[in-house]
Amino acid sequence: MGFDELSAARDAAIVNGEHLLLGGTPPGWKSVPVAPAPFYKRRYTWDGDLVMGCTIGCSFCYYRWINNSVDTIGTGQKGLRRICTPEEMIQWLDQSRLFKPERDIVMLCARSDGSMQVPEITEFLRIFPHGNPVFILHRAPFGWRQIKEWGPDRRAIFCTTITPSCPEFEGSPVKPPAQMAGLKRVFSAGIPAGRISVMLGPLNSNNIEAGVRLIRELAELGIQFLTYRGCSVGNFGVAPEDDQLRRLGFLDGGQDEKAHPAGHSYYRMKNWLAPEVERAILATAAECGVRVHRHTGTLYRDEFGMPVPYNRNNRPRTDELGQWGKADPEKIGKYLRWLGFHPLGVRETADGYFVQLPAEEVATEDVAMTVGTEFQTSVLFNNHRLAPTLGDLRFYATNHLLSLPDGWERVIE
Ligand code: SF4
Repeated sequence: MGFDELSAARDAAIVNGEHLLLGGTPPGWKSVPVAPAPFYKRRYTWDGDLVMGCTIGCSFCYYRWINNSVDTIGTGQKGLRRICTPEEMIQWLDQSRLFKPERDIVMLCARSDGSMQVPEITEFLRIFPHGNPVFILHRAPFGWRQIKEWGPDRRAIFCTTITPSCPEFEGSPVKPPAQMAGLKRVFSAGIPAGRISVMLGPLNSNNIEAGVRLIRELAELGIQFLTYRGCSVGNFGVAPEDDQLRRLGFLDGGQDEKAHPAGHSYYRMKNWLAPEVERAILATAAECGVRVHRHTGTLYRDEFGMPVPYNRNNRPRTDELGQWGKADPEKIGKYLRWLGFHPLGVRETADGYFVQLPAEEVATEDVAMTVGTEFQTSVLFNNHRLAPTLGDLRFYATNHLLSLPDGWERVIE
């Protein structure tokens, strides 16, 4: 199947290039099989996996609503798919021009859980030659094995998401008391609080009381900062079962179920929090002395000292990140040319540095966030897309911006 035919192949139900990279081959795909990409997007972090799929099976997991990953979530060991070896993952990063060694955050287990791939992660850390921080997402309680194998590596950040549980909302089979016991083990092994990143959520009116109690317990344990999240719902080919999500208490009846930023193909509701829920979090955190982040940009910048872009979705993020800094427009242009673009001009505006690209060139969010990070400022484009199209992936391949997974080369030729 040729590229143009592929782009129009509606029976494969591919929404965009990111959808393809997420999971590879959805039901109905008629062309050569395409493996899932080790990393499928670059935002504040590189989100990737050695293994795809998760035996935990939270009811609100994003990957349940994506046709090429739905059968890997909560379907036991048989649902897990090995994506690549640690060597291949490193090779993939090193061959991707958008990736910057020694700087960018590598996030492992974005579509999975660290508990299902401990030896693979250990091996990744052993052979990864760069000093980049490696965030390991791990909802299951941390055990001694993880602590022994990852603890000595100062690049490794222990990340866990805790969903406050109550009779009205029990969305995850992993319960907070077991996770708290795991965090206690991490602390008792001497891992500093600066290497432990807790996300609290999803939160809504049903579990906010339990969430407030958890913030107090986390503070007592020694947690110094955390991120809090509202509820999100999406759809890449699999409609969420709203009735079931309501029965489980995830949809609480008071949410704006259509609240998402413009331009998203996937999200129907993104990180939605009621003002009173957020007020309760902020008040409790202030009382306990825990620093809290609504958005991950401030988390990575302020807690981990990472450079971040000040643009998001082709707008300046001044409200969340503060004023963007000055940069040299000529250097921005030169950097874009190195990435394969042909900018016609770069000028400073009230919202940041505005790049004029030729009509046929588009900066995707992967590119925009990379350029913003490089200059730690706001960089906006006349042509911008949140998620790459299949054509944008061809541009990625031509200019080595992102390596593409096995099978893809045959599809684009
Ligand atoms: S632990 Fe994470 S990846 Fe696994 S089912 Fe829950 S939300 Fe999904």
